[in-house]
Amino acid sequence: MILKIVQVGDPVLRAAARALTRQEILSAETQQLIRDMRETMYAAPGVGLAAPQIGQSLQLAVIEDSEDNLEEVPPNDLIEKQRSPVPFHVIINPVITHLAEEKANFYEGCLSLAGFSAVVPRARSIRVEYLDERGKSRAIEASGWYARILQHEIDHLHGALYIDRMQSRTFTSLENWRQFGPGRAERDASTGQPLPADSRDAAKK
Ligand code: ZN
Repeated sequence: MILKIVQVGDPVLRAAARALTRQEILSAETQQLIRDMRETMYAAPGVGLAAPQIGQSLQLAVIEDSEDNLEEVPPNDLIEKQRSPVPFHVIINPVITHLAEEKANFYEGCLSLAGFSAVVPRARSIRVEYLDERGKSRAIEASGWYARILQHEIDHLHGALYIDRMQSRTFTSLENWRQFGPGRAERDASTGQPLPADSRDAAKK
């Protein structure tokens, strides 16, 4: 079942989501929620979806950046963003245990801020400990675009949105982003590096 994605202004997006017990993870209800969130993420389409985005204040998110997604992205863009396929997986009760100090600046979108995008600095690499959909403890070491997706989704579980971290002068509607092109007028204030000049949609999460 495709679920409704709530938009910015809904208090559920600003609440700290609660952790799930192993028993809850294994329940039929949670397993159905995971299937529905997966379907909703594909339909959106997006590369990640956190439970608060469908109105459930739970520490659970689904992620997938499929090879099919990446086929539509120019090769230079994939290299620049360090973006490579990420298979479908579920993260529950995730804790970030390491954030690299080095940051990457790229345009980012969110399914709960439909139609907008902005440059968001994110750590280039990250370590996350979490439970999978069977309640098993796992850890991820991620870098590049995957590290960005994880940081975005875990922020959702703490009531944070990318607009809390964005370079606010880069905030744009997607329509204007396509018309005027990202990175033409702006430069990253901290490094002086030009922002990516492609005009592809920022991946939505
Ligand atoms: Zn989001």
